[in-house]
Amino acid sequence: MLELNSDLAAQIEALYRDMEESYDSVATPIGLTCEGCPDNCCDSYFLHHTYIEWAYLWYGISKLEPAHIQLLKERSAEYEQQACELLKKGVRPQLMCPLNENGRCTLYHYRLMVCRTHGVPASLTRPDGHRFNFPGCFRAQAIIEQSDDDKVGEYSMERTELMKRLVLLEQTFTSGSRHVLPKVKMTIASMVVAGPPMVKTCLSNSDALDSNFR
Ligand code: SF4
Repeated sequence: MLELNSDLAAQIEALYRDMEESYDSVATPIGLTCEGCPDNCCDSYFLHHTYIEWAYLWYGISKLEPAHIQLLKERSAEYEQQACELLKKGVRPQLMCPLNENGRCTLYHYRLMVCRTHGVPASLTRPDGHRFNFPGCFRAQAIIEQSDDDKVGEYSMERTELMKRLVLLEQTFTSGSRHVLPKVKMTIASMVVAGPPMVKTCLSNSDALDSNFR
């Protein structure tokens, strides 16, 4: 059974804080803010891949009133149904995240890594050495294009070490059995609908894995 203990919760909180600092170290000097942006990134279709982030999100959801949780579940089920219909037609969904109310994230403190890193230009080196450069959101790209200061184009959030820490936390959270567990490839809505991650494991026999996503 996966259990997010207080030590792991503190570690993921520290990681999230460092992500925010790293984000700000790029956003501030280039002058990127979400203030007055005509777009809201919370309607972007993103998939998330870790049990620990899923569990931490639910750690936050579980602090809400039961009626609020029920509302989020209903909204999330509706999101999933609409997303599924669009995907069947080959259309990438652009639907507001069910956790967003009046333009704001209701689980802001518990939001996932993608929610924290989207926006600024960033770089990532995979374990196989392959390097990725992300240009940032349309607003960040416009700022860089229009700036006369060459230095502005040099700022980039380095995600590699942050990702490594997330992978290590995921390994600890899953007691080193991540490689035999079902892959996580979920929207936030599907994490809400599914409830907190529940995985019963038989580590001596991976075939006997029984995953139960409530
Ligand atoms: S979890 Fe919060 S920040 Fe992330 S997409 Fe949903 S509403 Fe936006």
